[in-house]
Amino acid sequence: MSPTYDVIVIGLGGMGGAAAHHLSARGARVLGLERFGPVHNRGSSHGGSRITRQSYFEDPAYVPLLLRAYELYADLERASGRDIAVLCGGVMVGRPDSRTVSGSLRSAREWDLPHEVLDAREIRRRFPTLAPRADEVALYEAKAGLLRPENTVAAHLQLATRQGADLHFEEPVTRWEPYRDGVRVHTAEDTYTAGRLVICPGAWAPRLLADLGVPFTVERQVMYWFQPRGGVGPFLPAHHPIYVWEDADGVQVYGFPAIDGPDHGAKVAFFRKGEVTTPDSIDRTVHDHEVAAMADHMSGRLPDLPGTFLKAATCMYTTTADEHFVIARHPAHPGSVTVACGFSGHGFKFVPVVGEILADLALTGSTAHPIGLFDPARLTAAPALGAST
Ligand SMILES: Cc1cc2nc3c(=O)[nH]c(=O)nc-3n(C[C@H](O)[C@H](O)[C@H](O)COP(=O)(O)OP(=O)(O)OC[C@H]3O[C@@H](n4cnc5c(N)ncnc54)[C@H](O)[C@@H]3O)c2cc1C
Repeated sequence: MSPTYDVIVIGLGGMGGAAAHHLSARGARVLGLERFGPVHNRGSSHGGSRITRQSYFEDPAYVPLLLRAYELYADLERASGRDIAVLCGGVMVGRPDSRTVSGSLRSAREWDLPHEVLDAREIRRRFPTLAPRADEVALYEAKAGLLRPENTVAAHLQLATRQGADLHFEEPVTRWEPYRDGVRVHTAEDTYTAGRLVICPGAWAPRLLADLGVPFTVERQVMYWFQPRGGVGPFLPAHHPIYVWEDADGVQVYGFPAIDGPDHGAKVAFFRKGEVTTPDSIDRTVHDHEVAAMADHMSGRLPDLPGTFLKAATCMYTTTADEHFVIARHPAHPGSVTVACGFSGHGFKFVPVVGEILADLALTGSTAHPIGLFDPARLTAAPALGAST
């Protein structure tokens, strides 16, 4: 008979790793179950860098969570001894009425966040690698920067293990069900019981959380690394910000300084230009025409960046209809199951605060963090008349 746990966490990627850490730090007996090995590259939490920023164009409601996430990321670096955050500053570029600029400004003003608005000339003066058009401006935020996803996941798993969590890798969950006052979770190896279940399935949400009734779209996304013409010097984090750059047609591209030494270039990607896929069928090959399209797009914005193409990699977004997250107690099993999914391509900067929220919800049933925006009820279609479910 397997030991009984207080909490089982399904999925030990970004969110599940953080949940395992926060739960075990509070003394809960935790079992974590992960389909792949620790810190793998087949989900959504790999690729060397993730943008973080506080003047959040998506919605000001995210700002208090970001302020807490910044504190928790600093704690995580201290406790794990790993390098995670590089706060090199960031620019949100576009026309003044673009969502990227106007939304960032709205959050900055609403929350009184330190920021500057730069016109095109000032952008070029401060950041000579960037070539904005005359009608483009930027919100500059000194506290924006990047996070290293692999180090984040490794740090959470390391701390969870140190705090006594049992973490099982290469052990996919095949199904789970309510059992007595808690849950029962099945894998090919064993069956486990616990009082509470936390499900952080990333792109496997459509499968593992079908009963939530929330439609998710899984998208294939590509990250590209280019060696800048003339070398990485001007692209080092001391000189170069992270950027999110919106065109007149709403297409957003984002990128990073060169953080991995002289030969590893700088990373760039489109924010939301993915193809619909599934974790089983995703095409992991990046094709020449995709590289050419990215190089072409960048040549009008960071003309020195697409010097030499180095490599590319794929990743998955799990997107909801309104691009906001789902973090809640499971509506059908509110006493025992908590879910975190649908991070819609912008979840990584929230990872540690999501871990804290999941620990709150699983252990106490509620959280002081503002998570109203993430209620799945907003996304579940009303059942059709006569539907049997
Ligand atoms: C290309 C790309 C760029 C991004 N850029 C940014 C950015 O700049 N800033 C930002 O904030 N966010 C960004 N994001 C989004 C962010 O990375 C994701 O929101 C976040 O990583 C999602 O974490 P997760 O825990 O939900 O998923 P994952 O980290 O994928 O974790 C889910 C885990 O569940 C496991 N699992 C699934 N099914 C089972 C099962 N049956 N049994 C056991 N385990 C299971 C999977 O193996 C996986 O390890 C980006 C994402 C991508 C793909």
